[in-house]
Amino acid sequence: MGSTIDLALPALKTKPKFIFFTDFDGTITQQDSNDFMTDNLGFGQALRKKGNEDVLFGRRTFRDSFRDMLDSINTPFDQCIEILLKNITLDPGFKEFFEWARENNMPIVVLSGGMEPIIRALLAHMLGKEAADTLQIVSNDVAPREGKSINEEGGWQIVYHDDSGFGHDKSLEIRPYARLPAEQRPTLFYAGDGVSDLSAAKETDLLFAKAGRDLVTYCEKERVPFKTFQNFSDILATVKEIVAGRITVKQAATGRD
Ligand SMILES: [Mg+2]
Repeated sequence: MGSTIDLALPALKTKPKFIFFTDFDGTITQQDSNDFMTDNLGFGQALRKKGNEDVLFGRRTFRDSFRDMLDSINTPFDQCIEILLKNITLDPGFKEFFEWARENNMPIVVLSGGMEPIIRALLAHMLGKEAADTLQIVSNDVAPREGKSINEEGGWQIVYHDDSGFGHDKSLEIRPYARLPAEQRPTLFYAGDGVSDLSAAKETDLLFAKAGRDLVTYCEKERVPFKTFQNFSDILATVKEIVAGRITVKQAATGRD
């Protein structure tokens, strides 16, 4: 039965004992790339915050509000990427974390509500293209608008990954791994910073939540065990302890530090 499972679950290909799922914007990056584009190229911060509030109070779905945000950006897609490469910085510990994961057979799977070409471009910028290409990314995508190309004014739009209210339900990707029989199931980690990470995190064994961000509050409210992190160097230190068998995932979930 192995081959069927392997096809459906790409992160199992190297038979890892640990898999690391992670959000992208605000987790691997220090700023949110979609917020940055909206604030600087689209309808601006005030309307974005109003949109976030509408979602928080249940007046609109995240999916619709997020599409409005991105629809307000007319800048050609290639120019958006160029601007983001100059303005978005990556977590200072991520490169070392990525290299350690590669040497220690711990696949990293990026789960993001952002658009794949932007994520790939930002990762390639920091890690090198070849290295970035080895990462599995499950995210939304981009497509041309009718009769246009993405690299012209008003030429692109987001294409959602699934039909969920988030546009991308991150838990769907993790669940098949979480439900593997015990003898095949790797230990699952997750790192994130926002509310869309909560349902995904519930499927994993240990959640790293970015210090000072919304996810920490949600975890406490919903009693989901977690450990806060400032950057990926913190995460790497904890993961190393767990992989070496010095602490368990339960012992690592110490909440706010
Ligand atoms: Mg995020």
